[in-house]
Amino acid sequence: MLASFNILRWQDVLDILVVAFIIYQLIAIIRGTRSVQMVLGLIVVGMVYFMASILDLVTLQWLLKTFLGSLLLIIVIVFQQDIRRALTQVGKSPFQKNLDMAEKDLDEIIRACYYLSKRRIGALIVIERETGLREFVDSGFKLNAVLSKELLISIFMPVSPLHDGGVIIYKGRVQTAGCIMPLSQNPYISKRFGTRHRAAIGLSEETDAVIIVVSEETQEVSLVQHGALTAMHDEMTLTNTLRNIFLPKETLTNGWKQWVGRT
Ligand code: ATP
Ligand code: MG
Repeated sequence: MLASFNILRWQDVLDILVVAFIIYQLIAIIRGTRSVQMVLGLIVVGMVYFMASILDLVTLQWLLKTFLGSLLLIIVIVFQQDIRRALTQVGKSPFQKNLDMAEKDLDEIIRACYYLSKRRIGALIVIERETGLREFVDSGFKLNAVLSKELLISIFMPVSPLHDGGVIIYKGRVQTAGCIMPLSQNPYISKRFGTRHRAAIGLSEETDAVIIVVSEETQEVSLVQHGALTAMHDEMTLTNTLRNIFLPKETLTNGWKQWVGRT
């Protein structure tokens, strides 16, 4: 036992740590997604193969061997979304990008959303963060305009030629309108959500964008991030949520100020 420790090189320790880190990250990425069931499915197939070889079931063994022989291909096809997400994470800069979303920009978005909601006008507003959204930006009409409540409202008015699809905002500017986002394939999304909500969820599964959806049917305003949709019942909830995401330091200072004010 001790002898085996003696031959343990620092490279082996590094090797084990890197593999453990990769496995941990993979579990974190697929946790809570339908890929968990697929992993379980593959484990079950592996176990059946193991049993077949113990019991010497030749035909079943042959069948599963052929299936498992293309395992790499199967993994790539089944987990393509997760692989994309994992590679996006790996390619992410370790330094936080300056996202330049000022409090004023957030207020313009929030006020536009509730203006539209009151009038039963649907909207899909995407705020780009670290993951580049170039492929979706290119699917829309380029604007590169200063962000304002009035501009957002004008875009989503049903008579506007730009009202279909989503708007992408980056660094306080409306980059494009009429963008087509990828629809989520998650089978657990409630049937009451149509394509607008599914597009928001789909984009948030693949990127770190923060997306706001205004429903023309229910007038509900929702915030979508990391594949999860949260209803924003009032303007205050959306304001607090967006400030926590985009102005965390300021929230911290405010919290500190409030605490100091109380004492
Ligand atoms: P609402 O609650 O507002 O009705 P919904 O989730 O029920 O939203 P739909 O009623 O299907 O969705 O909304 C259709 C609108 O959603 C389209 O007119 C279009 O503007 C937008 N939309 C549909 N698919 C996409 C997509 N892939 N990317 C961006 N926007 C989309
Ligand atoms: Mg609808």
